[in-house]
Amino acid sequence: MSIWNKNEIKREIEKLDKDIETDILIMGAGITGMTCAYFLKDKNVCVVDANKVGHGVTLNTTAKINYFQERIYTKIKNVRNEKTAKKYLKSQIGAIKNIKEIIEKENIDCDFKRVDSYVFSNIESEIEPLKKEIEFLRKNDIDIKEKKLPNKITQYSSYYVSDTYIFNPIKYLEGLYKILKEKNINIYENSKIIKIEKKDDYYICYSDKYKIKSKKVLLACHYPYFILPFLLPLRSHIEKSYIAISRVKKDLGFTCISSNKPTYSCRFYKDGDNIYQISLSESHNTSIKQNDSYHFQRVKEIFNLKEKDIVMTYSNVDIMTPDHMPYIGRLKDNIYIACGYNTWGMTNGVLASKIISDMILNKENEYVEIFNPNRINLANIIDLPNILFSQTKSFLGPKLNKNKPWYKDNIKFINKDGKNLAIYKDENGFKHIIYNKCPHFGCSLIFNEEEKTWDCPCHSSRFDIDGKSIKGPSNYDISYKE
Ligand SMILES: Cc1cc2nc3c(=O)[nH]c(=O)nc-3n(C[C@H](O)[C@H](O)[C@H](O)COP(=O)(O)OP(=O)(O)OC[C@H]3O[C@@H](n4cnc5c(N)ncnc54)[C@H](O)[C@@H]3O)c2cc1C
Repeated sequence: MSIWNKNEIKREIEKLDKDIETDILIMGAGITGMTCAYFLKDKNVCVVDANKVGHGVTLNTTAKINYFQERIYTKIKNVRNEKTAKKYLKSQIGAIKNIKEIIEKENIDCDFKRVDSYVFSNIESEIEPLKKEIEFLRKNDIDIKEKKLPNKITQYSSYYVSDTYIFNPIKYLEGLYKILKEKNINIYENSKIIKIEKKDDYYICYSDKYKIKSKKVLLACHYPYFILPFLLPLRSHIEKSYIAISRVKKDLGFTCISSNKPTYSCRFYKDGDNIYQISLSESHNTSIKQNDSYHFQRVKEIFNLKEKDIVMTYSNVDIMTPDHMPYIGRLKDNIYIACGYNTWGMTNGVLASKIISDMILNKENEYVEIFNPNRINLANIIDLPNILFSQTKSFLGPKLNKNKPWYKDNIKFINKDGKNLAIYKDENGFKHIIYNKCPHFGCSLIFNEEEKTWDCPCHSSRFDIDGKSIKGPSNYDISYKE
């Protein structure tokens, strides 16, 4: 469920149905994979996705194309240095230029629109830190104005820039899909890659039945499963946010985001005669708190949304890195990675596509070094105990509570014959039983009552009520058979 695929065009889905060979395999057809395929469209490239194009994290994004990102520059300055913060700013502005060029050149009808983007402090103690961020941006020639937000949200100070955009990401990806298809590029959907093996100077990527032989591989699958030496779980945590779509009378034509956590943010979307407000809040580390119903309620309260106006609610997750910068580039040999966008994947997905396509095409790119995925810095080391603590808690917590009575009226955790099981009882009293163990790392699952899914608090895998995998990194189902 998402606001973006309401009007999605129905089309024939092509699945991987034979063994194939290619020069470049892009795994994942979200904003990163599809934009990278666009930059490489004159090469022998192929895209494969476990789901449908754009139906990963990109489906539930709020799709603000923005370089004014909370207080990110101060944070990067603190954990890395001022030079890196400046370069990050330049990279985000460059990515906005790239996406604008693609949309204009290819005439992609995706509701791309220039808007004012605000950052505001919603607690008093944020006034001074936000001022520092503004000083940094002004020092770097960004034209920022101070002005009260046009809506009623609590605010102590607020600033805006005008050269930022919004769009419909699914329409953008549909546009790229058409261009790639016209170039005879294969895009295989509903085809999950479950294993990658290196053989001599190429890779074999296996789906359940077939294999793809490729010289180069880009992992653009949000949270890659395959790459143990990279140890992404120790270099990141997962942030979850809650979104409510409500019908409103007026398109106020701006976006806003709070400078501090938990993030409050909103934007507007006009779809024919309907105008929607997309409100987001209550972002948190998935391994810390889990009460989806409570968080959805909070979004409604914070934005004063009336129940009758709400048309849909859903959650979304993104990967957060200790130094607030994504991991983009060559992982090893001919494997590339792009992830860790810190909830700014519209710019960073396009930036990653540019950096990686330039690397593959042997072109210079000034950002290769600062986003190097193998970097380790002080921020990684400082964050490690937190990451280890929260993940161990999620891993062990429910395992220590064996044979708990019904946790809620409809959810139960039991241990049967040495196996931890989780049970969801549906409205008709039918019990859906799964193994309470995420195949990725073995963490125990939590039930997301609003969306009726089992979610992994450690690394954001999701399963339906019968244990079918619906989001990675886990590639496997956890259905239980007696
Ligand atoms: C609540 C929220 C709001 C956000 N709002 C914004 C915003 O306003 N602006 C902004 O810039 N960013 C925003 N973001 C961040 C942004 O949405 C993401 O960073 C971005 O969409 C990630 O894109 P992606 O292409 O890397 O991943 P995805 O869109 O998840 O694409 C990865 C694809 O890989 C596929 N895949 C996974 N595993 C496999 C496999 N084994 N084999 C084959 N395919 C596989 C998946 O099916 C998926 O289609 C937001 C994030 C959140 C959580």
